[in-house]
Amino acid sequence: MQKIVAVKGMNDILPEISHNWLWLENIIKEWAYSYGYRNIRTPIVEDTGLFIRSIGEVTDIVEKEMYTFTDSLNGDSLTLRPEGTAGTLRAVIEHNLLYNSTQKLWYIGQMFRHERPQKGRYRQFNQLGIEALGFANPNIDAEIILMQQDLWQRLGIFDLNLEINCLGNKEERASHRSELIKYLEKNIDVLDDEAKNRLYKNPLRILDTKNPMMQEMVANAPRLIDHLTDKSLQHHESWKSNLNSLGISFTENHRLVRGLDYYNQSVFEWVTDKLGSQATVSAGGRYDPLIAELSGKDNYAIGFAIGLERLLLVLEEYKKLPQHPAVDVYIACMNDEVSIYSMQIAQQLRKKGISAIQNLINVSLKAQLKKADNLMAKITLIIGENELHNKQVVVKLMQEQVQHVVEMDNIINFIDSYLKKGV
Ligand code: ATP
Ligand code: MG
Repeated sequence: MQKIVAVKGMNDILPEISHNWLWLENIIKEWAYSYGYRNIRTPIVEDTGLFIRSIGEVTDIVEKEMYTFTDSLNGDSLTLRPEGTAGTLRAVIEHNLLYNSTQKLWYIGQMFRHERPQKGRYRQFNQLGIEALGFANPNIDAEIILMQQDLWQRLGIFDLNLEINCLGNKEERASHRSELIKYLEKNIDVLDDEAKNRLYKNPLRILDTKNPMMQEMVANAPRLIDHLTDKSLQHHESWKSNLNSLGISFTENHRLVRGLDYYNQSVFEWVTDKLGSQATVSAGGRYDPLIAELSGKDNYAIGFAIGLERLLLVLEEYKKLPQHPAVDVYIACMNDEVSIYSMQIAQQLRKKGISAIQNLINVSLKAQLKKADNLMAKITLIIGENELHNKQVVVKLMQEQVQHVVEMDNIINFIDSYLKKGV
């Protein structure tokens, strides 16, 4: 019989590892709330048109990475979300959340892209998304960066590099685009197949190439920054000066573009040198035009997404992942008669916030003590028929390797005060 296995590029997260996820998610929740961001949860499946309109027709995602299917019951074209911004904005507009108001939103969720799976690149992966809507002033561009730097610090990572750029507005990009196409046409022999394909569709994206043979050519290409007019330049300068005042170091990378069409003005990436070509841990920027595109009204938006698998890989490199939590109390119990009594003790402990696991299978005391060691229990209780008869419990303090015999009436207090203060 052929075994059924998981879909390629879509991974199970087993208990050994999911523990890291819960730990990370807890830190993220506290962090997001501390900047006034509120959680939003939108569906994993959206109307295909939403992604085509927002991400853009000539992007990698829409051209070749989306999981699109027809709902056979009604013929609708649906897509598994490849990113979270489009669905979030769709929901915000649909529920009128920007009426006379700004919004700071965060989410964590699975995203789907049909890419070639490799370390740090999967077909189902998780992003943390942050979206700040309705803020025009470049102060928010600075706060967004500050909060990412703070997250790295909370996690104990100190050497991600921040790269920033300004993508200007539509007119500025159009003026740069025609000059860039002329330059690229002159260098047509140097372009690889992918670049040739992008030449008239999305030439800006060619600047982002990782092909070593094209580096010199793109380094000398016309720069978008030279096409920016006063308003964009002012926004950019003011963002940079805010970052300087906050003591945040950054590199200005004039070739930084984003793979999605909806960005304008400020864009940024935090990159690591620990994950080969999957170097971008967090990426984002302003996407003011997307609100107008989806709602018909001008407004302001900025946000970023962090790939959580990549972040966990970085944390692993830096040995910052947490230990599995130790259980407070393991109860070794010798037969069915004491089992129910042990269950009651365990329940009283849990009511005091103490974690307790009791043995529920027929194995020897030796095997149970070994289990307590594996669970890194701080205390093991041993309860057998004699103990039950004498109304006493054997308490083994695992770190000190000492045993006490404690009266049953006193057992909860004894454990509670030991865990608070030690012996
Ligand atoms: P890349 O250049 O690595 O393909 P991207 O520009 O496609 O990244 P975004 O769409 O901006 O990435 O997504 C934001 C973040 O989500 C990335 O920086 C990365 O950390 C993560 N990410 C993107 N695609 C994947 C994937 N297939 N698997 C795992 N993480 C991903
Ligand atoms: Mg990509």
